Amino acid sequence: MEESREACFAYIAGSATRGTGKQPLRFPEELVSDTQGIEVVEEGVRYKTPWGETVPMRILEIKEAKVVWCPMHNWQKGFSGTTSSLQLFHVLNELSVRYIILDASVGGIKPLKPWDLVIPDDLVAFNNDLCELALRTEGLPVFIRMAEPFCPHIRQILVQAIPEAAEAPFGQTLKNGVYVDKPMGRFETPAEVQIIGHWRETAFCRKPTVLGESLGLDAEGARRIGAHAAELCLVANYAEGTSPDKRWWVEEGRGNFYQRCPRLIAPIMLKALRLLIEDPPASCNCRLYWEDAKATSSL
Ligand SMILES: [Zn+2]
Repeated sequence: MEESREACFAYIAGSATRGTGKQPLRFPEELVSDTQGIEVVEEGVRYKTPWGETVPMRILEIKEAKVVWCPMHNWQKGFSGTTSSLQLFHVLNELSVRYIILDASVGGIKPLKPWDLVIPDDLVAFNNDLCELALRTEGLPVFIRMAEPFCPHIRQILVQAIPEAAEAPFGQTLKNGVYVDKPMGRFETPAEVQIIGHWRETAFCRKPTVLGESLGLDAEGARRIGAHAAELCLVANYAEGTSPDKRWWVEEGRGNFYQRCPRLIAPIMLKALRLLIEDPPASCNCRLYWEDAKATSSL
């Protein structure tokens, strides 16, 4: 079936644009100066789902395309990361969302440093489980393929949206990398980082690696509903055991860094959204993997 240009887009925002206040900064008006052509069509919508109510979301209109904006991965008090993702992807499926961009801040394993940008092309996430979404939703495959977990077309768009001469304080931009996912709410141990670092030095994985706790769920959710997705990761801290400065995480990482980064990352995400709406994916394999899974799903 041909994919429709009218299909809905989503921007799942994360910690790179959240800010340090009690509530996440609102996109676009609290995060970007150029809001021309962006209309807020619906405000503060809390969707009811079989797993409880979502956080307040927004429906935006950009170039006549509908864009769902969800702050901070739909994480909220009262629900686990998995339940929050079940709610979120239930809603995105109901809204026929097909194209998703995401942001996140992550830990970086050497040689990555704070302020480097990474657009992952692969993922390690053994702890996440959104299968229940398919088990309780008509039309979604239970057994999904995660070959190419991220849409190469949207990854390319994210690269394109980053200013060419990276402005300070950004460091290098890596167009690929492996994101290693951990359960929500716990950072890694030095020993875990050593193992992951060791993977990278073997044939298993030669790419620079980042650590986080959201993209395992977001990537699985996107594939479960047959959507194309990719994420811009901002390295926010040194992975445990690798920092030259043991207090960086507290003194710099939790303070200044998170005050500065939202208004530097959000314009990149807005540019990526505009490019994505103009030129949605047409020749990638994301839907093929989903259709394959659907055709062979036996539950
Ligand atoms: Zn794709």
